[in-house]
Amino acid sequence: MAYGAYGNDSYDARCALALDRALSLASFYGKWKNLDPGPSIPIDTRFSSLPVLTKKDLRAWIPDGFVYSDKDAKAGFASGDIELVPTSGTASERLSIIWNQAWWDRSEREGARINAALDRAFSQNHREAVLTTPVCAGNLCHVGDVPIEERILGNLLFPNQRMDPDSWGEKEVRRMAEELARFQPEVIEADPAYLARFSFETMRLGLAPFQPDIIVLTYEYPSRMHRRQIGRAFPGIPTVSSYGSTETGHVFTQCEAGLFHQNTASCRVDVQPFGAGRGDEKVGRILVTTLDHPWFALLRFDVGDLVRLRSDGEPCSCGRDGGRTGGGLTVESIEGRTRDLTFDSAGRAVTLKRLDDALGAAEGLLNYRIEQSAPNRFLARYTATTESESETADAIPDILRSVYGQNAEVEIRRDSAIGPEQSGKYRLARTIFDWNQEELFHDAP
Ligand SMILES: [Zn+2]
Repeated sequence: MAYGAYGNDSYDARCALALDRALSLASFYGKWKNLDPGPSIPIDTRFSSLPVLTKKDLRAWIPDGFVYSDKDAKAGFASGDIELVPTSGTASERLSIIWNQAWWDRSEREGARINAALDRAFSQNHREAVLTTPVCAGNLCHVGDVPIEERILGNLLFPNQRMDPDSWGEKEVRRMAEELARFQPEVIEADPAYLARFSFETMRLGLAPFQPDIIVLTYEYPSRMHRRQIGRAFPGIPTVSSYGSTETGHVFTQCEAGLFHQNTASCRVDVQPFGAGRGDEKVGRILVTTLDHPWFALLRFDVGDLVRLRSDGEPCSCGRDGGRTGGGLTVESIEGRTRDLTFDSAGRAVTLKRLDDALGAAEGLLNYRIEQSAPNRFLARYTATTESESETADAIPDILRSVYGQNAEVEIRRDSAIGPEQSGKYRLARTIFDWNQEELFHDAP
């Protein structure tokens, strides 16, 4: 097939190749073929003419529906070139995907180029400590007392062995601090909630944690309260947010200027904004298409996360707009998961970032979970430092009314602990009533 119409080797041509290969060679997409207006049409229009790929679709059709028919899946599995790898998340989100290590490694390496400090670390042999849930994800599992030798995989150390950081205790925190000091990682990659807890406990115990060259926050939304605690234990250490998933590889990396650039080396991103009246129209859900994957055809996959498009349209001061291969998105922020949306008194969606930015004003907050039970009714569970207890209790209702509307009824409940969900991830906000997310988003006309 010729892609000259989109410019040979350009980002658009690579997107067109991914589209054409998926539609013609991956059986799941057979029913999408008639919806494609064809190669004489601009590539963005072709993509936006197609439906959205859901986790449910993947679960029902993997592996056969998504492996290119010109590849021999049986031989791929037998040689270890591909494997089925379970993703993380809640029971309803979990599924297995087709994993190709070489593609993943390339996606990770290219994603790191988007930030100079991260690129420096990845340009050399580096040690990396990964602080997150020990729940089995990918091919790793390190729950319970496991000797350090069994928690080192190549250049990676996994210090945490407990499902719930609330059960760490002093001995556990000291062990992890000692392991970090011994392993001397250049990079700490962390779930922000876990690293925040570790930071808070090391400060409380008067320990001076080992300082890496760079901290990468990933796995879940980096709350302001968590970043604040991390900043106290790791003052002056560059901290970068990286966004991706097991299904899509590395999608966005935060640059030195604080914006998020798309990793055009391994993916395309389409954004479906909130419809008028349903939420901020600069915010939308991301639909990811993987590029140059040798086996697995992922087209317009709804990962379940939201981003904010840039409002000024000025080039980013880091100079990376368009990337090295051209095209690609630069977004203002990652706004949190779709499932963590709550709704204001006008029924408009409130992203986790909007809520979290507002709650950032409560300095003593250590953790929270906002539960919306009805259009104007909220339960705010929280944990706070002992010294900020009454101040925090006073601040929360006003903050929530500033976000949700002055008629919001807010009940507050101070907890001794708020643990992660079974998936190992924390849930900062949720509704306890059902709503239909498909009604919230629309494609550009
Ligand atoms: Zn930038």
